[in-house]
Amino acid sequence: MIYLNGPGPLQVEGLHGLLLEAARDHNVLPLTGRCNLSCCFCSHGQNPPGTRAFDFPPLELELLRELAPYLDPGQKIIIGESATRLREGEPLTHPHFFTILELLRRRFPATPIQVTTNAALLNRENIGRLASLAPLEVVLSLNSATARGRRLLMGDRRPRPALGAAELLARAGVPLHGSVVALPHLAGWDDLRQTLRFLDEAGARTIRLLLPGYTRCSRPALVPPPGTRELCYRLAEELKGVLRAPLLAEPPLIENLDPVVEGVMEGTSARRAGVCAGDLILAVDGRQPGSRVDAFELSRRKANPRLSLQRDGRRVETVLAKQKGEPPGFAVSYDLDPAQVERVRSALRPGGETLMLVSRAALARWQAAASRFGLSSLRLQPVENLYFGGSINCAGLLTAGDFKAVLAQKQAAPAPARVLLPAVAFDRDGGDMAGGSFRELAEIGIPLLLVR
Ligand code: SF4
Repeated sequence: MIYLNGPGPLQVEGLHGLLLEAARDHNVLPLTGRCNLSCCFCSHGQNPPGTRAFDFPPLELELLRELAPYLDPGQKIIIGESATRLREGEPLTHPHFFTILELLRRRFPATPIQVTTNAALLNRENIGRLASLAPLEVVLSLNSATARGRRLLMGDRRPRPALGAAELLARAGVPLHGSVVALPHLAGWDDLRQTLRFLDEAGARTIRLLLPGYTRCSRPALVPPPGTRELCYRLAEELKGVLRAPLLAEPPLIENLDPVVEGVMEGTSARRAGVCAGDLILAVDGRQPGSRVDAFELSRRKANPRLSLQRDGRRVETVLAKQKGEPPGFAVSYDLDPAQVERVRSALRPGGETLMLVSRAALARWQAAASRFGLSSLRLQPVENLYFGGSINCAGLLTAGDFKAVLAQKQAAPAPARVLLPAVAFDRDGGDMAGGSFRELAEIGIPLLLVR
């Protein structure tokens, strides 16, 4: 029987379902929901009561062994990130953390592993062990490069190990990526700048700047003053020309699908080929990419792809000397996978109007996709996240109640011939984060379809 701190007990089958979903659909191996820190921004503390997000204790080795065959050896295996309703904690608190990694390495000798950690438990010895498990990279959720900032933002009473971890990882040759939740209204703008520079100087290959998010249940002190997000985007722009590592603000400010390079990683084929931040990718081996994601994937899949770039009004040709399947070494913001666009195209109702409900965050990129890919019978309607409220506006956190509020207004004639909803908002059983279900929407009487 299993435990869990969700709104009610999660039965064993429920836990198994979520674990399988994480492994099979996301290549994520969940280890534990427990954490050794208490970040003020942790989403665990900001959910409305009753949210279907589950805490879980360190998983038994036997169970993790059973999950391993569901992981795809052709994709990076991810540890320490949430992919389902299971709340991921700090992976290094798992008592068998290294046994699990060794098990994965034996089973998948060449598959890259990514470990996301708050860095508080990293030290010289365990960093040496991580180095021996290459190919393995670490995402440091550092959030602040000062002792004061780590204490304030993360409740880290012993910040020294985390602050020394980046240098130790670099010395041990473990590829490092940085992740920073921007809370300048709490820790100060200087702290934020210093942290981004610190990660860059420590050799981070990429740095994610996560813009502050909050729900209707967040403590007032967490809510950033108006204008903070805009200032964070401005800071990211300003530092792009200064830092060596690509700095990716998330969610990205995307109004179109133009494949613009955000940054280039050191020591990669893109760097050697002279690709620069700001380059527009016109073609990969003569094929015009449909989006940023398309440009990245085309370049990743091919051996020695020829890139046609637009730079300062000039056309530049270059070749990435790389293996098939190897990442190209440039970074782009995530916009749309053309496969998603094709799934929407095939779901359009012939001879009628199809309405697609999208999150507010995705509206501009779907508008761009509808015009670029000729989806003329598609109408788009943004959906507000009433359940979480605050600044939450991504599709994965929309609920049946949020969709219902919009659909109720569409019942009046002329109702659309079909309505498409983002499948990411629902689990495999049609359940949402608020305990509602896709099935409730059927009562509205408009034909509905979930699209991935
Ligand atoms: S390190 Fe991650 S899981 Fe732990 S408290 Fe902070 S945000 Fe939450």
